Amino acid sequence: MTAHTLIERIAAIVGPQGLITDARDMEPYVVDWRGYYRGASPAVVRPADTAQVAAVVKLCAETRTAIVPQGGNTGMCGASVPHANGREIVLSLARMGRVLEVDALNNTATVEAGCVLVNLQQAAAEQDRLFPLSLGAEGSCQIGGNLSTNAGGVNVLRYGNARDLVLGLEVVLPDGRIWNGLRGLRKDNTGYDLKHLFVGAEGTLGIITAAVLKIFPRPKSTAIAWTAVPHPEAALELLSVLRQRCGDRISAFELLSRNCLELVLRHIPGTRDPLPVAYDWYVLTELSDTEDNGTLREELEQSLAAAMERDLVTDAVFAENQTQAQALWRIRESIPEAARAETGMLYRHDIAIAVSQVPAFIREASTELVRHFPGAHIICFGHLGDGNLHYNTFVAGRNRDDAAARDAHDVTEVVYDLVQRYQGSFSAEHGIGMYKVEELRQYKSTVEMELMRTVKHALDPLGIMNPGKVL
Ligand code: FAD
Ligand code: ZN
Repeated sequence: MTAHTLIERIAAIVGPQGLITDARDMEPYVVDWRGYYRGASPAVVRPADTAQVAAVVKLCAETRTAIVPQGGNTGMCGASVPHANGREIVLSLARMGRVLEVDALNNTATVEAGCVLVNLQQAAAEQDRLFPLSLGAEGSCQIGGNLSTNAGGVNVLRYGNARDLVLGLEVVLPDGRIWNGLRGLRKDNTGYDLKHLFVGAEGTLGIITAAVLKIFPRPKSTAIAWTAVPHPEAALELLSVLRQRCGDRISAFELLSRNCLELVLRHIPGTRDPLPVAYDWYVLTELSDTEDNGTLREELEQSLAAAMERDLVTDAVFAENQTQAQALWRIRESIPEAARAETGMLYRHDIAIAVSQVPAFIREASTELVRHFPGAHIICFGHLGDGNLHYNTFVAGRNRDDAAARDAHDVTEVVYDLVQRYQGSFSAEHGIGMYKVEELRQYKSTVEMELMRTVKHALDPLGIMNPGKVL
């Protein structure tokens, strides 16, 4: 079948509203968020419901047409955009954005996969509930994308990753069949737990069309502090102090280096240094509680005072109101955006190490990097409570628009080899996509690779579902 007749048949399924073929209109769908990958596609298909998704996928299976599922296209690994060969259609879930049900007593929400994260957060809040997944891209990323990347974010410490928040899924399989697993059960040991195959699969095993997700009592009080700590070891000790004193009321514990703050101050309008003096390391901590008895702030103050006595904290400032709280969080969340505003080539590493090993890793990695690349400018921040660092580096003299700098693997190799020595993960949050396919082969065992290929082949024998991503 020619591409022309294929598009006509897709148009017959989704209607004119569900199809984009104009090159200019397709632009936002074929370039990834970081602007690293520019693909080409005969069409962007925007189905309105699961039946349409299934019909389109069936047609694609019949014609051996590759499909790239796409949510908000905020992913960091080029998983959501087509290759440059111009043969893969993009299937966007953007028109399937409804919150179908919030069941406050079951503490679940059922949503279509194209639901923008912030919309689910709001729908939950309207029922006095919390949907805890929260990340910098929440205004545009979608639940389907969050699940397919097993997104993390700033609340993992308390509520877990996207995987921990899902109870049920509806998925269109690569042959067009619909699997309806939209169950809101907290206990269900009836065979293999299939939903987890699709979580973190980056659209390579099927298209998630809807999900049942856990929601929680909505916190009524929060206390937020921005603290200066002398070094990452102190930050780790501080976490331990807070855990002892505040238990699971710690909902976020984010570490960042001075470099990160400076980057933000330089590029993000309206930001300012929360403290009058410059320090090397900072921790942004948030406590939250479902009760509002006015003691949370005091508790955080006392905990930090105890930490100060042990020289774990050098200075601290508390958010006095919502505006100040937002301003502190904005610093943390704007780091990726601020880094994008630099002309230098940023080598990004989204890694995980056992929490207790993080300080040693930071020390060793910076020594190694500076030894190999004099003048390396390390932008280290992350979710210390999860052992997840965004360990990013600018290298002197290398610019982003320089293809050789972009394609160079030398910096990354230094970091990943060390991660390997620490038995860590070279992709903690952002997945594999096109960006880390080589690394997956290099750092995963043969057995793991074989198991993954077996699963892929069993579900997608024609290899039409997001080909060339992950495996
Ligand atoms: P997309 O980018 O559109 O797609 C991601 C992958 O999922 C692709 O493989 C795509 O094919 C697949 N996919 C999308 N929808 C479906 C579906 N319905 N069915 C099957 N496959 C699908 N990530 C974190 O984990 N933590 C963070 O803290 C974080 N912070 C970020 C901050 C910023 C400023 C930005 C830009 C990104 C950040 N990210 C973070 C990365 C990104 O937002 C997440 O990976 C997010 O989950 C992607 O969602 P999306 O809807 O944009 O998916
Ligand atoms: Zn992160």
